[in-house]
Amino acid sequence: MKIIADTHCHTIASTHAYSTAMENIIEAKNQGLYALALTDHCEYTPGSPGTWFFNNLRAIPREVQGVKVLRGAEANVLNAKGDLDLPKNLHKPLDWIVASMHDVAYTGIHDTDECTEAWLSVSKNPSVNVIGHSGSASFVYDYDKVIPEFGRNGKLVEINNSSFMVRKGSESNCKKIASLCKKYGVPIIVNSDSHFCTSVGRFDKALKLLEEVDFPEELVINADIDRFNGYLEKYTGFFEI
Ligand SMILES: [Zn+2]
Ligand SMILES: [Zn+2]
Repeated sequence: MKIIADTHCHTIASTHAYSTAMENIIEAKNQGLYALALTDHCEYTPGSPGTWFFNNLRAIPREVQGVKVLRGAEANVLNAKGDLDLPKNLHKPLDWIVASMHDVAYTGIHDTDECTEAWLSVSKNPSVNVIGHSGSASFVYDYDKVIPEFGRNGKLVEINNSSFMVRKGSESNCKKIASLCKKYGVPIIVNSDSHFCTSVGRFDKALKLLEEVDFPEELVINADIDRFNGYLEKYTGFFEI
């Protein structure tokens, strides 16, 4: 399986990542990627950029060095209501919103009931594209109940290559999540979550896990350019402007 787009990476704008947008783009090109989404962290992550940063991402052309560049953000899910730390007026100017839970930003209780409620709320948010690294051991939810809802609402469940390095204890959850996506026919997306350009386009650990559960390639939205473009056309404004 060849992954053609990396739709979750960070730049120096996040201040705990160490490459520029251009360095990430060049690496995406070197890795033969068709597209790259720049998804820096939002307000509740310490040191993250402000609203002007996200609003002005249009300064970056749609295609750089032959790589399609998606203007994105990784927003924090803040509570059971599924509130995000990205103001609503910024949803439309962006092509790509990854919603994730992080210990530093989540203001509610981390129990399974609440995380289930939070993800169900997020699944109803039309601005969200990707359910970021939801295998995190800190935020276990009722996978059987929520995953079919992600599918019904056009959300892509992320298998995050960095989870296996930086989010200890998430591997067995990721496996369960992938197995349920297969069972319910829910599309997934494989991402690097790169914080330094040498990780852009690296998906080895995520792909190994998918192989272990014999995951069907046709459900991997970024394993085929036409499939990926089909998603962009249906759910984003990427081709409109
Ligand atoms: Zn980060
Ligand atoms: Zn994250």
